[in-house]
Formats: sequence, C-alpha cells, structure tokens
Amino acid sequence: MKQHLTLAVAVTLGLGLVSAGVASAQIGGARGPDEEPLAMDASLILGHVADDGKLRGFIFTGEPAEQIEHGNPGSRILFVNNCKGETTSTGAAGCRITRGGTNNSINNVSTIASGNLTAYSGSTTTWNSIVNCVRQTYAPFGITVTDVNPGAVPHFEAMAAGRPTEIGFPNGVAGVAPYSCGVINNAITFSFLNLNPNDVNDACWTIAQESAHAFGLAHEMLAADPMTYITNPPQKRFQDQSACIGTSGCCQPQGECQCGPTTQNSVQKLLGIFGPSNPTPPTIVIETPTNNSQVTPGFVVRATVTDDQGVQSVQLIIDGSPIATLQSPPFAFNAPADLAEGTHTVTIRALDTLNSEGTASVTVIVGEPCTTSSQCGGNDLVCVDGRCVPGMNTPGGLGSSCDSPDECLSGVCATKDGENRCVEDCDPAADGCPDGFSCLSNGAGGGLCWPGGGGCLGCSTDGGGSPDPTLPIGAGLLVAAVLVRRRRRAA
Ligand SMILES: [Zn+2]
Repeated sequence: MKQHLTLAVAVTLGLGLVSAGVASAQIGGARGPDEEPLAMDASLILGHVADDGKLRGFIFTGEPAEQIEHGNPGSRILFVNNCKGETTSTGAAGCRITRGGTNNSINNVSTIASGNLTAYSGSTTTWNSIVNCVRQTYAPFGITVTDVNPGAVPHFEAMAAGRPTEIGFPNGVAGVAPYSCGVINNAITFSFLNLNPNDVNDACWTIAQESAHAFGLAHEMLAADPMTYITNPPQKRFQDQSACIGTSGCCQPQGECQCGPTTQNSVQKLLGIFGPSNPTPPTIVIETPTNNSQVTPGFVVRATVTDDQGVQSVQLIIDGSPIATLQSPPFAFNAPADLAEGTHTVTIRALDTLNSEGTASVTVIVGEPCTTSSQCGGNDLVCVDGRCVPGMNTPGGLGSSCDSPDECLSGVCATKDGENRCVEDCDPAADGCPDGFSCLSNGAGGGLCWPGGGGCLGCSTDGGGSPDPTLPIGAGLLVAAVLVRRRRRAA
C-alpha cells in the first residue's frame, strides 16, 4: 500500500517538476480558512521520491532572502519543535499553523502551509536522540539547536511532527521547506516524523535538510551529506567538500540549479552564514569519591558532566591509564578491583561533540581503613581518622614544618605558638590523630591534627567555645589569619 501511494506521489511530482523552476511565488490554489490545510499544488515541490520512498523537497517561494556572507543571521537558534507543547485548533497536542505572506516562527505563520500538525508520536527517548543528532549535525556552526521553545525570541524553526496530509501535502512527502536562494529569517520548515517516528537517522537527515533549505542550501549529490537524496550511508553530516547540486545528477533535474551555482560545499556555506561554533569544554563534577577519601578496591566513580553542545564521551582514567569510556549518562564507573593499596589519582576526561576536552581529578587512598599507624605498613605512614598519610619525617608530611600550604601533602599549613606545621583534617569527636598528636578545633566545627595537645587552631579567642587559656591574647586571631589552606590537588 505504501508503495502504491509513493508511486502516485512520484507521478504527480514528476509532472510538476517541469514547471517548478518558474513557479516562484505561485503557491497553492484556492485559499480556505487560515487553519485549513492549504491543498498545496504538489507540483510546486521541488524534489523527487528517493529510493527510500521519500521526498524531502522544498518550495521556491521567491520571498526576500538574506544573502549572508560571514554576516549576521537574524537568529542563531534552531528550534526543533515536536509540537507536544502546543495545541491545535481542536485542542489536541500539536502545532496550529496559519498561512501568511511572511514566515513567522514565533506565532506559527508559514508561507507554504496551514493546518493542524499532530504532535510527534514517538517516545521521549527517541525524540531526545533525534534532537541530539540534529545538534551534532549543526555542532560545527555558530547556531544553537534546542527543543525548548524560545518564545518571542526570533528563531528558525524545524517542526518535526505529524503527517504531510495534515497541512496540505500529499502523503509520501517526508519534509518540505520554503526556499529562496538565501537565508529566510524566521522560517518554519516541516519534517513529517509521524510517517516513521522511530528512525533516528532518517528523522535527523530530514530535519537537517529541510532546516538548511531555509538557509539557502540546495540538494547535492554527496551521499554522506544531509542535503543529498542518496540513502546510504544512513547517518549524514554536513561535508566540507564541493559537490554537484542536484538530486539525480549534476544540476539534474534542471530546476535544482535555479539559484545560479552548480556546486555546493555545505560546510563552507553554513560557516559563511553562522560562522564557527564557539566551543566550551564540558563541565565535570566528580560526585564520588570525594578528594582524599579512603576507598576500597573496585570503588565507584560517579560524575555529572554537562555541555552546551552535548557530551560525546566520558572517560575514567586512573594514574594516567584509561580504564573505561561511556557515551551516555549515568556516568558511573567501577575502578579496577586490583588497584594497589596507596594513593591514586582518579581523573574524569570528557569530550563534547566538537571534541572540546574537560578534565577533573581527585586523589584517593586505596586500602582498608586503619585504626593504628602500625597497620599502615611503615615508611613513615601514620593513621589519621582511618586513613594512612605520610608522617613528620616525610617532606610535607603530617607535623612537618611549612611556610606555605603548597609545601604540605595535605594542602594545609597551620600556625600555633609561632610554629608553622603541615596538618591533616580530623574529626574532633573521634580524636583519630596518631600518637603524639591531638585533634584541635579548626574554629569551624572540624578539627586538625597538631603535634602535642591543647589549644585551638584557626579560632578566635573572643569567639565561643573554649579557647586555650594558655594562648596569649591575640594568638587565636593570629592563627586565624595564618591558617592557610590551599585547594587540594584537584585539577
Ligand atoms: Zn530537500
């Protein structure tokens, strides 16, 4: 049945093609109420049914178009609209399109169509994949692809929903766009996704081609480019390569070259309009483990990674060696079960769709929690709150003298009674400092291990609590000023 319908469309459109080149501005027949389907004259659609049974055409509208060369497009937003957030004139979920002489994506006025376009019928998961694909397709260029309605902000719009017959086109038309040899600001293009709602590559191809028609891009004979009519490969991206304009050969059929040029480089054409994208590296937050935490082998590494262009991949690296890579969230990994005891650097490296790289790292200590320093295996390691850390005989170790936090392995250099020493965080309630050390208040609810006992680090003598009466007046304030903490080794 589909074949039959496709054939009928092919015949209709094939006949119409002859007149398409000179059909500018002659759109539609008798005009009904604004929201009735327009009963398009299919002969005005330029394009043909490809070997996948689909027509991704455009209508030469002859409306004013901006000829932009490294210029200033009217918008840098492409809104991919599944019409789920809008209502038709019958109150159903869908887009209500009225016909007018000028495209206006803000209030759904189209120069080529009218009627009620039913909301996209596929799943949210598939929709998100389609939007992500369109985003990746346009990622090299200075235009943002979004499925969040920009409201009254000027934008290009790719409606991706419904069926062609709902807004006046014959069945078998997979997509259609206004076309005017340049950029049509505020244009609405149509990709009829409900014909085939679950094919991500097919939907992405159609949306990319129709939206680019409104930027003045013609059909071309390069199979890997979304402007093509050639089915394989199924995944299309704009190609930085000159190709013949046409759907069935160079300038074939004839109307394809009506804008003048006979070849097209889609990447250079889009760069000329929008310029290159402005890549920003992904933002990475390592949620677990926390920096300097004690972990057991096989521990979980979990990160949140966000990026305006979309995240391409997230990689776990431990001590410089790649462990695993994920392409989609949740970004959670298990560290190797055979990771040796001791200190390790856990790094998350993320790439966005433009290969901009971001990294973040934390330091962890693998091993069973210690209760005494003797369990730390010598080498001047001492036990602090269940973790083994370097001791006083190691440069930068706990209790060694320091002049700045950079000298301390813990990143904290504290001052008390005129002495500067490297300290480690501790829990005052647990008093988990090694022999010869006390967990002194840090003045902020936590504690720091300090050689000997008594007093308070980093707290003011006129504050609450119980300041050390042996401290000279002002020493507490001095300590508060001198306790310097550098950010721990986290990139
Ligand atoms: Zn097309």
